[in-house]
Amino acid sequence: MQQTIKKELEYSGIGLHTGEQIHLVFKPATAGTGIVFVRQDLSGKPMIKACPENVNNTWRELSLKKNGVEIHTVEHLLAALSGLGIDNIEIAVNGDEIPIGDGSALPFVELLKDEIISRNTSKKVFRPKEPLWAGSSTEDKQVILLPSDEWRITYTIDFEHPVVKTQLATFVITQEVFVKEIAPARTFGFLKEVESLHARGLAKGGSLENAIVIGEDKILNDSLRFENELVRHKILDLIGDFSLIGMPILGHVIAIKSGHDLNLKLVQKMATCAIDIY
Ligand SMILES: [Zn+2]
Repeated sequence: MQQTIKKELEYSGIGLHTGEQIHLVFKPATAGTGIVFVRQDLSGKPMIKACPENVNNTWRELSLKKNGVEIHTVEHLLAALSGLGIDNIEIAVNGDEIPIGDGSALPFVELLKDEIISRNTSKKVFRPKEPLWAGSSTEDKQVILLPSDEWRITYTIDFEHPVVKTQLATFVITQEVFVKEIAPARTFGFLKEVESLHARGLAKGGSLENAIVIGEDKILNDSLRFENELVRHKILDLIGDFSLIGMPILGHVIAIKSGHDLNLKLVQKMATCAIDIY
């Protein structure tokens, strides 16, 4: 059955890229609504639906845009909604970015997880008939979706960096696994990139409170939540990206050094391909 939340819920925090304080109000929505952002701060309160057609930027974040109106850094919130099985919700926001919280999906999971209610309408499920893939022709990056009877994600990252190197993880994503094993994994970045991000007007709100920062020869945070927290966060991001398809997925994603850009190329293919939807 499709799910929404029982009552209005609120959340405040700073945006990772703008550094500004942002307030969110989560509102129950009827079956078939999907995930809809409402820009409370603009005249006419324009709505932006989370769907493949509205993808705007996929560099370092996922942002959506409809009729010139944008909402940035939606991926961790979308992952939380997908991981909790929330299909329909309205999110009123008084700025152009979703708060970063602690850099993971945990703040949203904790806010929403005991407030979910089923509606009397069944969900559709996305099930590919054949493998779908997207890859980079110049780099060794791939993302593949194989038919499967479960929602599984296998991810590998490989950085040419003495501290992080290679990590591999595979999970069947149930709600329980998402909440315990994926949602707490925080976003990460390399210290040497911070200056160039700042020069582009990004990461103004970034700190060790909301990101894992990787220095030349060590991780600057006191501790990690998981030994392979980085690849778990990449799985979290992928869940957010793939949630744009608007329904649960039965399939096995194999992601090799992928990111938002490549994930979204595959999502665009999924949105137009012949599938079993039931
Ligand atoms: Zn992320």
